[in-house]
Amino acid sequence: MYLKRYLSKNLTVFRSLRFGKIFSTSTIHRYNVTVGVGGNIGDVKRRFERLFVELKKDKRVTLLETSLILKNPPFGFRDQDDFFNSIIVLQVSMQPYVFLNYLLRLEKKFARKRSFANAPRTLDLDIIFFDNRIIKTNKLTIPHASWSQRESVVLPLKSMQLVNQR
Ligand code: AMP
Repeated sequence: MYLKRYLSKNLTVFRSLRFGKIFSTSTIHRYNVTVGVGGNIGDVKRRFERLFVELKKDKRVTLLETSLILKNPPFGFRDQDDFFNSIIVLQVSMQPYVFLNYLLRLEKKFARKRSFANAPRTLDLDIIFFDNRIIKTNKLTIPHASWSQRESVVLPLKSMQLVNQR
């Protein structure tokens, strides 16, 4: 069940029991991580729900808050379906590169296929922030490059309560 709200002609937000919610304020793990979630192939919202369940049962992460799900038009390669995007804030004790590999494995599990830049995708997981770290290497850029210019990141982030209290 989703509560649907139109923000404009091109933008729609969805709230569910799992998306658009605070789950914990605990501090079991060491780092706060903000993860961007996206996709535009098949039943993306359902995939987000499955991802949530997967993360919830994993002791290596603690779910703190999820944003609403935003449906928005693709950028770059425009001839593809609209994207669904959300933000998940977690706590982890893994270091950044270990966490990146953890996300890449999750993408694989949800059958992500890499083809070309900005191509359609089943599930895209990006580290937007990792605590207050700044990293610039070939493998990892944190904060995520150009996150502040992406509506797909900025709008969901704005809907989050814990994030905006920090
Ligand atoms: P993409 O096509 O956006 O999924 O690109 C994934 C690749 O981007 C990963 O294999 C990482 O090496 C690299 N990358 C660089 N910075 C980040 C980041 N902040 N979060 C996730 N992947 C990143």
